[in-house]
Amino acid sequence: MDSAARAPEKLSGVEDRPERKDPKRKAISSPYFHRLQRKHFLLFDVLPILGVVLAIALAFIHPVSAVDIGLFVAFWALSGIGISVGYHRYFTHRSFKAKPMVGAALTVLGSMAGQGALLSWVAMHRRHHELSDQPGDPHSPNLHGPGLVAGIKGLVHSHFTWMKEHDYPNVAYYAPDLLRDPLVARTARHYYSWVALGLVLPAILGGLLSQSWWGALTGFLWGGAVRMFVVGHIIWSINSLLHRFGTRPYQSRDFSRNGGVFGLLTFGEAWHNNHHAFPESPSFGLQWSVFDPGYWVIRGLNLAGLAWDLRVPSAQRRTSRKNRTLQPR
Ligand SMILES: [Zn+2]
Ligand SMILES: [Zn+2]
Repeated sequence: MDSAARAPEKLSGVEDRPERKDPKRKAISSPYFHRLQRKHFLLFDVLPILGVVLAIALAFIHPVSAVDIGLFVAFWALSGIGISVGYHRYFTHRSFKAKPMVGAALTVLGSMAGQGALLSWVAMHRRHHELSDQPGDPHSPNLHGPGLVAGIKGLVHSHFTWMKEHDYPNVAYYAPDLLRDPLVARTARHYYSWVALGLVLPAILGGLLSQSWWGALTGFLWGGAVRMFVVGHIIWSINSLLHRFGTRPYQSRDFSRNGGVFGLLTFGEAWHNNHHAFPESPSFGLQWSVFDPGYWVIRGLNLAGLAWDLRVPSAQRRTSRKNRTLQPR
Protein backbone atom coordinates (compact mmCIF):
# COMPACT_ATOMS: atom_id res chain seq x y z
CA MET A 1 0.00 0.00 0.00
CA ASP A 2 1.19 3.52 -0.75
CA SER A 3 1.70 4.97 2.71
CA ALA A 4 3.05 8.20 1.21
CA ALA A 5 -0.29 8.75 -0.46
CA ARG A 6 -2.14 9.34 2.83
CA ALA A 7 -2.12 13.10 2.32
CA PRO A 8 -5.70 14.38 2.14
CA GLU A 9 -7.00 14.87 -1.36
CA LYS A 10 -10.01 16.87 -2.41
CA LEU A 11 -12.99 14.57 -2.22
CA SER A 12 -14.64 14.62 -5.61
CA GLY A 13 -18.25 15.72 -5.27
CA VAL A 14 -17.79 17.39 -1.87
CA GLU A 15 -17.18 21.10 -1.57
CA ASP A 16 -14.07 22.40 0.20
CA ARG A 17 -15.07 23.22 3.75
CA PRO A 18 -13.27 23.61 7.07
CA GLU A 19 -13.15 20.42 9.14
CA ARG A 20 -15.82 20.38 11.84
CA LYS A 21 -14.61 20.58 15.41
CA ASP A 22 -16.36 17.38 16.36
CA PRO A 23 -15.50 14.74 13.76
CA LYS A 24 -18.19 12.43 15.20
CA ARG A 25 -20.79 14.65 13.59
CA LYS A 26 -19.74 13.29 10.20
CA ALA A 27 -21.47 10.03 11.12
CA ILE A 28 -24.29 9.19 13.50
CA SER A 29 -24.70 5.97 15.46
CA SER A 30 -28.19 5.61 16.92
CA PRO A 31 -30.61 2.77 17.74
CA TYR A 32 -33.23 4.46 15.54
CA PHE A 33 -31.00 4.33 12.45
CA HIS A 34 -29.90 0.79 13.31
CA ARG A 35 -33.53 -0.35 13.41
CA LEU A 36 -34.14 1.17 9.97
CA GLN A 37 -30.95 -0.45 8.64
CA ARG A 38 -31.92 -3.90 9.92
CA LYS A 39 -35.38 -3.53 8.35
CA HIS A 40 -33.89 -2.47 5.00
CA PHE A 41 -31.34 -5.30 5.16
CA LEU A 42 -34.08 -7.87 5.75
CA LEU A 43 -36.35 -6.53 3.00
CA PHE A 44 -33.89 -5.92 0.17
CA ASP A 45 -30.83 -8.03 0.99
CA VAL A 46 -32.18 -11.16 2.74
CA LEU A 47 -35.64 -11.61 1.17
CA PRO A 48 -34.26 -11.61 -2.41
CA ILE A 49 -32.30 -14.75 -1.41
CA LEU A 50 -35.66 -16.46 -0.74
CA GLY A 51 -36.83 -15.14 -4.11
CA VAL A 52 -33.86 -16.84 -5.80
CA VAL A 53 -34.62 -20.15 -4.03
CA LEU A 54 -38.31 -19.95 -5.03
CA ALA A 55 -37.47 -19.03 -8.65
CA ILE A 56 -35.14 -22.02 -8.96
CA ALA A 57 -37.71 -24.35 -7.32
CA LEU A 58 -40.45 -23.18 -9.71
CA ALA A 59 -38.12 -23.71 -12.67
CA PHE A 60 -38.35 -27.46 -11.95
CA ILE A 61 -42.15 -27.27 -12.36
CA HIS A 62 -42.13 -25.06 -15.44
CA PRO A 63 -38.98 -24.14 -17.40
CA VAL A 64 -37.84 -20.52 -17.24
CA SER A 65 -39.41 -18.70 -20.20
CA ALA A 66 -37.84 -16.32 -22.71
CA VAL A 67 -40.04 -13.57 -21.20
CA ASP A 68 -38.54 -14.21 -17.74
CA ILE A 69 -34.99 -14.08 -19.14
CA GLY A 70 -35.81 -10.89 -21.07
CA LEU A 71 -37.27 -9.25 -17.95
CA PHE A 72 -34.24 -10.28 -15.89
CA VAL A 73 -31.79 -8.82 -18.42
CA ALA A 74 -33.81 -5.62 -18.98
CA PHE A 75 -34.25 -4.81 -15.27
CA TRP A 76 -30.66 -5.90 -14.48
CA ALA A 77 -29.40 -3.39 -17.06
CA LEU A 78 -31.80 -0.59 -16.06
CA SER A 79 -31.20 -0.78 -12.31
CA GLY A 80 -27.46 -1.47 -12.76
CA ILE A 81 -27.05 1.57 -15.01
CA GLY A 82 -29.12 3.55 -12.48
CA ILE A 83 -26.56 2.66 -9.77
CA SER A 84 -23.35 2.93 -11.81
CA VAL A 85 -24.15 5.91 -14.05
CA GLY A 86 -26.68 7.63 -11.78
CA TYR A 87 -26.01 7.04 -8.09
CA HIS A 88 -22.25 6.62 -8.50
CA ARG A 89 -20.78 8.59 -11.43
CA TYR A 90 -23.34 11.39 -11.69
CA PHE A 91 -24.57 12.08 -8.16
CA THR A 92 -21.70 10.94 -5.92
CA HIS A 93 -18.77 12.15 -7.99
CA ARG A 94 -20.39 14.76 -10.23
CA SER A 95 -18.22 13.47 -13.07
CA PHE A 96 -20.48 15.02 -15.73
CA LYS A 97 -23.36 17.45 -16.00
CA ALA A 98 -26.80 16.46 -17.28
CA LYS A 99 -30.32 17.74 -17.89
CA PRO A 100 -32.42 17.64 -14.68
CA MET A 101 -34.75 15.03 -16.15
CA VAL A 102 -31.78 12.72 -16.80
CA GLY A 103 -30.89 13.02 -13.10
CA ALA A 104 -34.49 12.29 -12.11
CA ALA A 105 -34.65 9.23 -14.39
CA LEU A 106 -31.34 7.92 -13.05
CA THR A 107 -32.62 8.41 -9.48
CA VAL A 108 -35.68 6.26 -10.23
CA LEU A 109 -33.62 3.54 -11.97
CA GLY A 110 -30.95 3.49 -9.24
CA SER A 111 -33.61 3.29 -6.52
CA MET A 112 -35.03 0.16 -8.19
CA ALA A 113 -31.82 -1.68 -7.22
CA GLY A 114 -32.94 -1.54 -3.57
CA GLN A 115 -29.52 -0.41 -2.32
CA GLY A 116 -30.78 2.54 -0.30
CA ALA A 117 -32.19 5.98 -0.94
CA LEU A 118 -30.04 8.24 -3.13
CA LEU A 119 -28.84 10.72 -0.48
CA SER A 120 -27.84 7.96 1.97
CA TRP A 121 -26.02 6.03 -0.78
CA VAL A 122 -24.15 9.13 -1.93
CA ALA A 123 -23.17 10.11 1.64
CA MET A 124 -22.02 6.55 2.33
CA HIS A 125 -19.95 6.36 -0.82
CA ARG A 126 -18.32 9.79 -0.35
CA ARG A 127 -17.34 8.63 3.15
CA HIS A 128 -15.89 5.46 1.60
CA HIS A 129 -13.65 7.58 -0.66
CA GLU A 130 -12.71 9.91 2.18
CA LEU A 131 -11.63 7.11 4.55
CA SER A 132 -11.03 4.27 2.13
CA ASP A 133 -9.50 1.27 3.93
CA GLN A 134 -9.06 3.32 7.10
CA PRO A 135 -11.12 3.30 10.32
CA GLY A 136 -14.50 4.84 9.49
CA ASP A 137 -14.71 3.32 5.99
CA PRO A 138 -18.20 1.74 6.06
CA HIS A 139 -17.17 -1.37 4.12
CA SER A 140 -13.46 -2.06 3.99
CA PRO A 141 -12.37 -5.74 3.92
CA ASN A 142 -8.93 -4.75 5.25
CA LEU A 143 -9.62 -3.67 8.84
CA HIS A 144 -10.08 -7.01 10.58
CA GLY A 145 -6.44 -7.77 11.34
CA PRO A 146 -3.92 -10.25 9.90
CA GLY A 147 -4.48 -13.92 9.18
CA LEU A 148 -6.79 -16.04 7.05
CA VAL A 149 -9.80 -16.02 9.42
CA ALA A 150 -9.64 -12.25 9.86
CA GLY A 151 -9.30 -11.91 6.09
CA ILE A 152 -12.46 -13.96 5.48
CA LYS A 153 -14.32 -11.99 8.19
CA GLY A 154 -13.27 -8.80 6.43
CA LEU A 155 -14.57 -10.03 3.07
CA VAL A 156 -17.93 -11.13 4.54
CA HIS A 157 -18.29 -7.79 6.35
CA SER A 158 -17.42 -5.68 3.30
CA HIS A 159 -19.58 -7.73 0.95
CA PHE A 160 -22.76 -8.16 2.95
CA THR A 161 -23.03 -7.91 6.72
CA TRP A 162 -21.89 -4.28 7.08
CA MET A 163 -25.32 -3.25 5.75
CA LYS A 164 -27.14 -4.83 8.69
CA GLU A 165 -26.01 -2.14 11.12
CA HIS A 166 -23.53 0.70 10.62
CA ASP A 167 -22.80 4.32 11.44
CA TYR A 168 -24.99 6.55 9.33
CA PRO A 169 -23.07 9.29 7.49
CA ASN A 170 -24.42 12.78 8.07
CA VAL A 171 -26.16 13.67 4.79
CA ALA A 172 -25.99 17.40 5.60
CA TYR A 173 -22.19 17.10 5.72
CA TYR A 174 -21.58 14.68 2.87
CA ALA A 175 -24.30 15.57 0.38
CA PRO A 176 -25.32 19.25 0.83
CA ASP A 177 -25.36 19.71 -2.97
CA LEU A 178 -28.14 17.12 -3.32
CA LEU A 179 -30.14 18.54 -0.41
CA ARG A 180 -30.14 21.91 -2.18
CA ASP A 181 -31.53 20.46 -5.44
CA PRO A 182 -35.34 20.39 -5.13
CA LEU A 183 -35.99 18.01 -8.05
CA VAL A 184 -33.39 15.52 -6.80
CA ALA A 185 -34.60 15.72 -3.20
CA ARG A 186 -38.24 15.36 -4.30
CA THR A 187 -37.55 12.36 -6.55
CA ALA A 188 -35.27 10.63 -4.05
CA ARG A 189 -37.85 11.00 -1.25
CA HIS A 190 -40.06 8.40 -2.94
CA TYR A 191 -37.36 5.71 -2.74
CA TYR A 192 -39.65 2.94 -1.48
CA SER A 193 -42.17 3.63 -4.28
CA TRP A 194 -39.40 3.28 -6.89
CA VAL A 195 -38.16 0.01 -5.36
CA ALA A 196 -41.77 -1.28 -5.44
CA LEU A 197 -42.08 -0.15 -9.07
CA GLY A 198 -38.99 -2.23 -9.91
CA LEU A 199 -40.77 -5.29 -8.48
CA VAL A 200 -44.31 -4.64 -9.73
CA LEU A 201 -43.40 -3.62 -13.29
CA PRO A 202 -41.75 -6.96 -14.24
CA ALA A 203 -44.74 -8.77 -12.68
CA ILE A 204 -47.20 -6.76 -14.82
CA LEU A 205 -45.10 -7.17 -17.96
CA GLY A 206 -44.62 -10.89 -17.27
CA GLY A 207 -48.38 -11.37 -16.84
CA LEU A 208 -49.29 -9.37 -19.96
CA LEU A 209 -46.66 -10.93 -22.22
CA SER A 210 -47.44 -14.51 -21.16
CA GLN A 211 -51.18 -13.90 -20.65
CA SER A 212 -51.05 -15.81 -17.36
CA TRP A 213 -50.83 -15.39 -13.57
CA TRP A 214 -47.91 -17.82 -13.59
CA GLY A 215 -46.09 -15.40 -15.92
CA ALA A 216 -46.81 -12.55 -13.51
CA LEU A 217 -45.31 -14.55 -10.62
CA THR A 218 -42.16 -15.62 -12.50
CA GLY A 219 -41.84 -12.11 -14.00
CA PHE A 220 -41.83 -10.73 -10.44
CA LEU A 221 -39.26 -13.32 -9.37
CA TRP A 222 -36.83 -13.08 -12.32
CA GLY A 223 -37.21 -9.38 -13.20
CA GLY A 224 -37.62 -8.35 -9.54
CA ALA A 225 -36.22 -10.52 -6.74
CA VAL A 226 -33.54 -12.49 -8.61
CA ARG A 227 -32.44 -9.39 -10.51
CA MET A 228 -32.19 -7.41 -7.23
CA PHE A 229 -30.11 -10.23 -5.71
CA VAL A 230 -27.74 -10.35 -8.72
CA VAL A 231 -27.28 -6.56 -9.09
CA GLY A 232 -26.70 -6.27 -5.34
CA HIS A 233 -23.99 -8.92 -5.21
CA ILE A 234 -22.31 -7.55 -8.33
CA ILE A 235 -22.04 -4.07 -6.82
CA TRP A 236 -21.03 -5.39 -3.38
CA SER A 237 -18.25 -7.47 -4.94
CA ILE A 238 -16.61 -4.14 -5.81
CA ASN A 239 -16.54 -3.25 -2.10
CA SER A 240 -15.20 -6.64 -1.06
CA LEU A 241 -13.20 -8.44 -3.75
CA LEU A 242 -11.84 -5.34 -5.49
CA HIS A 243 -10.35 -3.94 -2.30
CA ARG A 244 -8.41 -7.22 -1.94
CA PHE A 245 -7.72 -8.89 -5.30
CA GLY A 246 -6.71 -7.66 -8.74
CA THR A 247 -4.24 -5.32 -10.39
CA ARG A 248 -3.18 -1.92 -9.24
CA PRO A 249 -1.94 0.16 -12.17
CA TYR A 250 -2.47 3.56 -10.52
CA GLN A 251 -1.47 5.17 -7.24
CA SER A 252 -4.29 5.60 -4.76
CA ARG A 253 -4.35 5.95 -0.99
CA ASP A 254 -6.12 2.63 -0.40
CA PHE A 255 -6.13 -1.05 -1.44
CA SER A 256 -8.43 -0.64 -4.46
CA ARG A 257 -7.86 -3.04 -7.35
CA ASN A 258 -8.91 -3.51 -10.97
CA GLY A 259 -10.77 -6.70 -11.89
CA GLY A 260 -11.37 -6.19 -15.58
CA VAL A 261 -12.89 -9.62 -16.09
CA PHE A 262 -16.00 -8.32 -14.28
CA GLY A 263 -16.27 -5.34 -16.67
CA LEU A 264 -19.53 -6.37 -18.36
CA LEU A 265 -21.28 -7.65 -15.22
CA THR A 266 -20.41 -4.51 -13.25
CA PHE A 267 -21.17 -1.97 -16.01
CA GLY A 268 -17.47 -0.95 -15.91
CA GLU A 269 -17.30 -0.56 -12.12
CA ALA A 270 -14.66 -3.29 -11.99
CA TRP A 271 -11.97 -0.74 -12.95
CA HIS A 272 -12.00 0.17 -9.29
CA ASN A 273 -8.35 1.13 -8.87
CA ASN A 274 -8.71 3.47 -11.88
CA HIS A 275 -11.77 4.93 -10.18
CA HIS A 276 -10.08 5.53 -6.81
CA ALA A 277 -7.14 7.14 -8.61
CA PHE A 278 -9.40 9.39 -10.74
CA PRO A 279 -12.77 9.66 -8.90
CA GLU A 280 -13.71 12.73 -10.95
CA SER A 281 -13.65 10.73 -14.23
CA PRO A 282 -16.96 9.55 -15.79
CA SER A 283 -14.91 6.86 -17.56
CA PHE A 284 -13.65 4.12 -15.26
CA GLY A 285 -11.85 2.36 -18.12
CA LEU A 286 -10.11 5.72 -18.86
CA GLN A 287 -9.61 4.75 -22.53
CA TRP A 288 -11.95 3.89 -25.40
CA SER A 289 -10.41 0.46 -25.88
CA VAL A 290 -11.37 -0.56 -22.34
CA PHE A 291 -14.72 -2.24 -21.69
CA ASP A 292 -16.84 0.23 -19.70
CA PRO A 293 -20.59 0.08 -20.55
CA GLY A 294 -21.47 2.73 -17.96
CA TYR A 295 -19.25 5.23 -19.75
CA TRP A 296 -20.74 4.29 -23.11
CA VAL A 297 -24.17 5.21 -21.73
CA ILE A 298 -22.76 8.59 -20.63
CA ARG A 299 -21.19 9.12 -24.07
CA GLY A 300 -24.55 8.26 -25.64
CA LEU A 301 -26.25 10.87 -23.43
CA ASN A 302 -23.48 13.30 -24.40
CA LEU A 303 -24.02 12.71 -28.14
CA ALA A 304 -27.78 13.21 -27.65
CA GLY A 305 -27.10 16.58 -25.98
CA LEU A 306 -28.40 15.35 -22.60
CA ALA A 307 -25.01 15.26 -20.80
CA TRP A 308 -21.88 17.40 -21.05
CA ASP A 309 -18.64 18.42 -19.26
CA LEU A 310 -17.27 14.85 -19.20
CA ARG A 311 -14.16 15.16 -17.02
CA VAL A 312 -11.99 12.34 -18.41
CA PRO A 313 -8.36 12.77 -17.26
CA SER A 314 -5.76 13.56 -19.93
CA ALA A 315 -3.13 11.00 -20.99
CA GLN A 316 -0.53 13.17 -19.27
CA ARG A 317 -2.44 13.13 -15.97
CA ARG A 318 -2.95 9.37 -16.22
CA THR A 319 0.76 8.83 -16.80
CA SER A 320 1.64 10.98 -13.80
CA ARG A 321 -0.41 8.68 -11.52
CA LYS A 322 1.00 5.39 -12.88
CA ASN A 323 2.04 2.99 -10.18
CA ARG A 324 5.72 2.47 -10.81
CA THR A 325 6.83 1.11 -7.47
CA LEU A 326 3.93 -0.91 -6.07
CA GLN A 327 2.89 -4.36 -7.22
CA PRO A 328 -0.41 -6.17 -6.69
CA ARG A 329 -0.43 -8.24 -3.54
ZN1 LIG B 1 -16.76 6.11 -6.16
ZN1 LIG C 1 -13.69 1.47 -3.21
